[in-house]
Amino acid sequence: MPRALLLVLALLPALALLPALALLPALAHAEPSPAAEGDPFAPAALPPKGPKPPWPRRRRAEEKIKPSAHGLLDLARWPAEPPSPATVDEERFASALRQLCGGWWPPKRPRQWAAMILEHARAFKVDPFLVLATIYRQSRCLPNEKPEDSFGIGLGKIDPRMHAPFLKKGRYRYFVLEEGAWKPRELELGKFSILNLRRAEPSIYFTAALLAIAKRQCPATDAAFGSIPHRHFVSHFIWGDRVRGAGAEDRVLQARRSLLEYYGGKAPEPRGRVKELAIRLPLDGAPRVVTSVMGSDRDDGKRFHKGVDFASTWGEPVRAVADGRVVLAGIDRPGGGPLNVDPEEATTIKASQLGPGGLFVMVLHEGGVRSAYMHLSSYVVKANQRVKQGELLGHVGKSGTKESGAHLHFELRGEGKHLDPMPALVPAGVIGPEETWLGRKLDVEEKRVRKVRRVKRWRARQEAAAKGSQGAP
Ligand SMILES: [Zn+2]
Ligand SMILES: [Zn+2]
Repeated sequence: MPRALLLVLALLPALALLPALALLPALAHAEPSPAAEGDPFAPAALPPKGPKPPWPRRRRAEEKIKPSAHGLLDLARWPAEPPSPATVDEERFASALRQLCGGWWPPKRPRQWAAMILEHARAFKVDPFLVLATIYRQSRCLPNEKPEDSFGIGLGKIDPRMHAPFLKKGRYRYFVLEEGAWKPRELELGKFSILNLRRAEPSIYFTAALLAIAKRQCPATDAAFGSIPHRHFVSHFIWGDRVRGAGAEDRVLQARRSLLEYYGGKAPEPRGRVKELAIRLPLDGAPRVVTSVMGSDRDDGKRFHKGVDFASTWGEPVRAVADGRVVLAGIDRPGGGPLNVDPEEATTIKASQLGPGGLFVMVLHEGGVRSAYMHLSSYVVKANQRVKQGELLGHVGKSGTKESGAHLHFELRGEGKHLDPMPALVPAGVIGPEETWLGRKLDVEEKRVRKVRRVKRWRARQEAAAKGSQGAP
């Protein structure tokens, strides 16, 4: 046999493999699972199961969401989602929308958007409260704040590159798993162009449509693409085919709960208790996740955290936990203590003139208990003003913080000292950091850092003692 032919024969098996090799990047099974990506504190991915999906994984061009941020260790810890009303009143929905998205809007906009959300949610058979909650969490209802970033475009922050390959001639082609096989499906989506997401209506339309598709594909896509466990299909709107953290869906579902509260016009029951005082949460839509508790390290252990941090969205309403009198509505000055400032003036103060608390409000309640609300973006009350439980005090921001994103820092004080708010907040609907993946990770990290610090201090004492004994006569 000629040597050339032998060579070809020897290479044949490899040649036969070539088409399969070319397909490899398309096979999600070949990708490492989140746990295998080096984070021991991330939940393990679901093992691959069933037939391989006949499409390459849909993913955002840039996955800028943190994988395990704030997802719960035990998904069952979160109570079942409340149902939406069977028929939705457009006017009430518009008023709830205004409360969620902000009251600064042109007067006609809530009605216009409410009508569009209700129409498209009905057409695609998805929950309008979920559509609005998704829009709120993705863009804070601001279509133009960042008109386009690598994460997505418009109200829903949709990444058109993720979906364009599946849209042909106004139809979205996708697959569902039925009787052990992936069956092709199509959804008519010709009404708007996905290239027009900067406009409100196409953005709302595609948000409703893509939620409808995610609803049909989850949970089959999870096992196929190695998602980590989550509760809701809205995760796929955010992540694409492979979900890498359940924290993002918790935030959407929490916003949906706020929205339902506004729609129903009912304030939550004050279930928490500080001494004799019955308190509600300072934020809407319980349960709420607290990411940091009292006593955690700050500034390399030089000071301790005097309250709790709530995971929250910039601009969210902050409310009085109980009836009382505003004793401070102002700023925390760097090294200079608090100062009352007029609400309008406060928002113009430069970041460099603020201490760690930033813009803050403190309320004195019956029995001498004080509650404080910090890092606000703005406040709407003045010192000496009486406030009712649940009354709006201000809005979540990041004033005074150095690195962290927008969150609410909340403190309770009584008899001249700081009280741990957690025992009062848990019955009112708070989930602590020890129940989240991120909290567990940070806890382990903090313990490690404290141990290193202890060892350093011990060594320094040993050295000082050694020096002392040398110096002795
Ligand atoms: Zn899923
Ligand atoms: Zn804090």
